[in-house]
Amino acid sequence: MRIETTRSGLVQALARHAGKRIAFVPTMGYLHEGHLTLVDQAKKHGDVVVMSIFVNPLQFGPGEDLARYPRDLHRDAALAEARGVDVLFAPADHEMYENGRPIVMVTPGHLGNVLEGRFRPGHFEGVLTVVAKLFNIVRPTVAIFGQKDFQQCVLVRRMCNDLNLAVEIVIAPTLREADGLAMSSRNIYLSAEERQSALLISRSLRIAADLYQKGERDANALVKAASAVLALDNNIRPQYVELVDARTLAAADQATGTSVLAIAAHVGQTRLIDNLRLAP
Ligand code: AMP
Repeated sequence: MRIETTRSGLVQALARHAGKRIAFVPTMGYLHEGHLTLVDQAKKHGDVVVMSIFVNPLQFGPGEDLARYPRDLHRDAALAEARGVDVLFAPADHEMYENGRPIVMVTPGHLGNVLEGRFRPGHFEGVLTVVAKLFNIVRPTVAIFGQKDFQQCVLVRRMCNDLNLAVEIVIAPTLREADGLAMSSRNIYLSAEERQSALLISRSLRIAADLYQKGERDANALVKAASAVLALDNNIRPQYVELVDARTLAAADQATGTSVLAIAAHVGQTRLIDNLRLAP
């Protein structure tokens, strides 16, 4: 595996693979098995796998965890190489933003104001801008994203459509710990007790999905059932529990086969997100 930290180095490394299908996995590092299943998907969809590791300052708001976001390039490189990544791109901030904060950015429109966007203003502008930049640097045929960040998936797809970026977007399912907790680099912040509390997030999604399976279609009832589970534990402070359409992100009164139940909650100081499609 080659590790490149500059754009010119990456372009040189990829020149050797001209004409091949490049499959790209963008990440912020501190890799876990969820990230590595994206690599598995990338290997299926492309000939050469490029992973980026870049903690993008543009997508963090004031007071968020940019400074303490976990970083361990040495460990990440070993995991990426063992899983079959061909080229790891790990640029420093100044390599991506040589003139500081960009003036021209990609705006997500109204899709960036709901769910995550309501609580993280500017977040998706930062995400889409860095993804567009990375696409232009890596020039992938296909890029793999995780359903865990499903609003991000919707917006990246939308960006490719609306801006004619010729990159196929593949969405990989959310990987969970054996007890249901969605894998996340931020899980490292949780104390043992908080980790137990955090389990209620996936449990509440499952309970709503079970109700859906049994025939419940009323969005309010499903949201209430999930919220009631979260309310069992004082360590959990939900920001939203919402039922939305998987493609449009529009809130719905009635659940359908394309509905997603999405949750963001603080567990102690740690902000976690998770979501589940109600129909299997
Ligand atoms: P991050 O490093 O958190 O920015 O995530 C990089 C990519 O990995 C994104 O496409 C995420 O959606 C995806 N990802 C994060 N956690 C998981 C997970 N538990 N299962 C599958 N994909 C994930």
